[in-house]
Order: sequence, then structure tokens, then C-alpha cells
Amino acid sequence: MKSTMLVGKTALVTGSTSGIGLGIARSLAEQGANIVFNGFGDAQQIEKLYTDIGAEFGVQTAYHNADMSKPQEIEAMMAYALEKFGGVDVLVNNAGIQHVAAVEDFPTEKWDAIIAINLSSAFHTTRLALPGMKQKNWGRIINLASVHGLVGSSQKSAYVAAKHGLVGFTKVTALETAQTGVTANAICPGFVLTPLVQKQVDDRAAREGLDNDAARRALLSEKQPSGEFVTPEELGALAVFFCSPAAAQVRGVAWNMDGGWAAQ
Ligand code: NAD
Repeated sequence: MKSTMLVGKTALVTGSTSGIGLGIARSLAEQGANIVFNGFGDAQQIEKLYTDIGAEFGVQTAYHNADMSKPQEIEAMMAYALEKFGGVDVLVNNAGIQHVAAVEDFPTEKWDAIIAINLSSAFHTTRLALPGMKQKNWGRIINLASVHGLVGSSQKSAYVAAKHGLVGFTKVTALETAQTGVTANAICPGFVLTPLVQKQVDDRAAREGLDNDAARRALLSEKQPSGEFVTPEELGALAVFFCSPAAAQVRGVAWNMDGGWAAQ
């Protein structure tokens, strides 16, 4: 349902050309926010995606192709948002990648990439967004951590380290903004059926000789008591709640939406 809660505000969602970021961008557009999209993909498809969402919700949309592993490109993206929309009111640090391997086999370049994209990028966007948010005395920083920001899983050392780091960074950001109208919180999803997780399903199907459905069920049954995937729409609704006046004193939380994963 279209609402006006975020009319006049600008949201920048990193990694919003796919999956959870796209779901959250849609939910924020539905509330009337202008959106700066970011992420990789086919240029024509991306243009269609942000043009369509702008038309659907009657908001302004734009796109910047910054590689979130590169601080200079992040700086260019934040400067673009400032020039285009006068700054960022809602910052969603969502871009992320995964790689699955045992510690002793983990490619060092994959470790560096995961730390850069899943953790350090949030530091760069946040440090650049905070002065404008503090000046307006309103801002929402939403960091897409993971249930892996709360608990570990084998084979995911870099990801778990980055997500635990992101939860810690969220707490410090929340403390440093506690007496302002800026809040910082983390969302910790369990399995969401996006390309990032489908790759793990495919690997499992190949490894264990399962069909796609059986591999999905096997993945869920191991970790997620509900047996259901979390959806980008559900995560979008949680992001909208963090932006609402009711969430003004929700600060520094790591809020899991994980089908019961972390309750075990
Ligand atoms: P996805 O692969 O569907 O989307 C990732 C997005 O990040 C894409 O838009 C991609 O283009 C972008 N991206 C990747 N590398 C980038 C880079 N260097 N610079 C800019 N953009 C880049 O994945 P997703 O599942 O939607 O994941 C989104 C976030 O949610 C990630 O941080 C992920 O760790 C987190 N998460 C996902 C799940 C899940 O089950 N899918 C669970 C918990 C947390």
C-alpha cells in the first residue's frame, strides 16, 4: 500500500539491483522515498528496474555503479547522492557476497573481498552520510548483517567475521548518534531465496545428487526451524519500521528475522 511516510526523503540502498536490497528499495519507494540504486548487472536491465520503480511509486530514482569494495568509488556515489538529491536520509548498507570454504582452503583474495564489501563499505558510506544526517537531525542507518552476525556456521569464516563486525559497527554508530535524530540498526536475516543463497542450493544439489527442491529443503532443515525462507518483502517491512517514528528509540539492535535460526 502506497504511503507518504518517507516523502521528501532519499534512501540509498547498496546492492539494490537484486535480492534483499531490491526488496528493501521497493518498500522504501512505496513509502515515498526517492531511491539511489547501486549494484552490478546488465546496464539496460538496471535502467529499466529503477525507471519502473520510480514510475510505479511516483518517486525519483537514480543509480550509481560504485564497486563497494573501492572506497574512492563509494565517495563518488555519496557525492552523486548529495548532488542529485541533497544527501542521504536513509542509508541501507546491503551489498554483500558469500564464499564457502574451510579456513585453510579459503582464498585470501575472497577473504579480502568479503571484508571490503560486507563490512568496510558500511564504514565508508556511514562516515560520509553522517554529517548530513546530523545536520538535518534525522537519519536512519540500516545495516544488512545476517544471522551470521550472531552465530557462526562452518565454511563461512569471512562472511561470519564480516557480519559480526557489522553488528559491532552498528552498535558503535548507534552510540555515537544516541542523542540525535539519527538511528543505526542491523537486520539479521536467516536464509532468503536470492541468487546468493541459490548458489548454495545449486552446490548442494550437485554435491548430494538432489533436485532443486530437495536441496532447498535440505539447506533449510539444517538451520531454519520454520522450514520457510524469509522474503525480501518481509525484510522491506522491517526496514520501513526502522524508518518510522515508532522506532525513534530503537538504537543499536541486531534484529533477527530468521525463522527461528538463532533461537536454537
Ligand atoms: P544478491 O546476490 O541477490 O544481491 C547482492 C547485491 O549486492 C546485488 O545487487 C549485487 O550486484 C550487489 N553487489 C555485490 N558485490 C558488489 C560490489 N562489489 N559493489 C556493489 N554492489 C555489489 O544477495 P542477497 O541475498 O540479496 O544479499 C543482500 C545482503 O543480505 C548481503 O549483505 C547478504 O550478506 C545479506 N544476507 C543475505 C541472506 C540470504 O539468505 N540471502 C541472509 C542474510 C543476510
